[in-house]
Amino acid sequence: MRICMVGSGYVGLVSGASFADFGHDVVCVDKDELKIARLRAGEIPIYEPGLDTLVEENVASGRLTFSSDIATAVARSEVVFVAVGTPSRRGDGHADLSYVYAASREIAGAIEGFTVVVTKSTVPVGTGDEVERIIRETNPEADFAVVSNPEFLREGAAIDDFRRPDRIVIGTEDERAREVMSQVYRPLSLNQAPLVFTSRRASELIKYAANGFLAMKVAFINEIADLCEQVGANVQDVARGIGFDKRIGPKFLNAGPGYGGSCFPKDTLALAKTAQDAGTPVRLIETTVAINDQRKRAMARKVVAACGGDIRGKTIAVLGIAFKPNTDDIREAPALSIVQALQDNGARVRIYDPEGMKHAASVLDDVAFTQSPYECAEAAEALVIVTEWNMFRALDFERLRGIMAAPVLVDLRNIYRREEVARHGFAYSCVGRPDEE
Ligand code: NAD
Repeated sequence: MRICMVGSGYVGLVSGASFADFGHDVVCVDKDELKIARLRAGEIPIYEPGLDTLVEENVASGRLTFSSDIATAVARSEVVFVAVGTPSRRGDGHADLSYVYAASREIAGAIEGFTVVVTKSTVPVGTGDEVERIIRETNPEADFAVVSNPEFLREGAAIDDFRRPDRIVIGTEDERAREVMSQVYRPLSLNQAPLVFTSRRASELIKYAANGFLAMKVAFINEIADLCEQVGANVQDVARGIGFDKRIGPKFLNAGPGYGGSCFPKDTLALAKTAQDAGTPVRLIETTVAINDQRKRAMARKVVAACGGDIRGKTIAVLGIAFKPNTDDIREAPALSIVQALQDNGARVRIYDPEGMKHAASVLDDVAFTQSPYECAEAAEALVIVTEWNMFRALDFERLRGIMAAPVLVDLRNIYRREEVARHGFAYSCVGRPDEE
């Protein structure tokens, strides 16, 4: 199949390269000409494990190309995916659909022959109707169908997720589009990934309902962690104990500093706004959003407490800026709010992240960027683990004790046990494990 991917970010690039790997002929388009130039030069603009090899192999095979000429790319394609950003709209929290609508207009003008236009971007229920209206209005002659096909990949494990999805959701009422989408995903459906065909509206809502549910699970275990701290129970035991129940499942039950990233924060907010507009507020999601917002500053208070109640003028070392390991994405990362709260309390902050720092300079003021966990920890009164990169799981505590101003570890991801840290003379704080404090 000839496929055009409009938007070559985390989702567009991974999906485009993966479709090429399935044997399709893919052009990845982006309006960011610098991004396209870098991709053409063999440079990968984002950090995602395995993506460089996947892109390189498929470019070499001739199945994957890059272009900033959307019209030519659309005209040659049978399927056009829209994978542009849908950030929170400034001010009201609704999804900002301006990129989706702009892309739809550009696509409309270039359609030749029957073309399936697929929104892979996360878009509120009803957006497909508007995309269809825009295309029809811009190009009344166009023969097309608009399909919803939300993406569920996780950054950091994106390629594997794309190749081995739990399910593929396809929202369309159009028979021809259904056939085309089945062809696009045939290599995966042969491997047993269920294709879930639904109406377009149900498909759009499935993505938000899934992210809302997962965010709620995170907020839930974080509240249970707070309770554990008050009543003297270990949240990891509680999570294990409930996670074995198949109705609950073990995933997304790690207590920590709250969810972040480019999806959960904006998607929960947008779902809450959609539901309010529909006159059926989703109060569980509204509360999830509120719990998560408060959580990050609460984590900063934990650091203040670990430092004896005052961090004014003290140096705090923060390990991890990316919203999770194995990505350079720092959008809505908990670390950003935690750093801000530490600074509000008068601390000087040093940070280290193996991949996230290149983006952090533009959003964080007055922090010292360092080149290793040990340089970060120099003269610090506390070391705070915010993102659980593997390289932070085996820190040399003897070395750290020699360079820090005080041996204090605040482990917001619960990756250590108190006795192994205490053995090196460190005071230890964590999340929801009062027996470990
Ligand atoms: P991103 O910001 O990394 O990439 C979007 C790209 O689209 C950018 O490179 C931008 O330049 C380009 N773009 C914008 N308008 C364009 C236009 N008119 N023509 C061509 N290119 C255009 O975003 P992302 O993280 O890949 O997310 C894309 C969508 O996928 C969002 O709706 C997001 O919610 C959803 N999603 C993201 C993830 C994830 O883990 N990042 C997972 C599932 C779903």
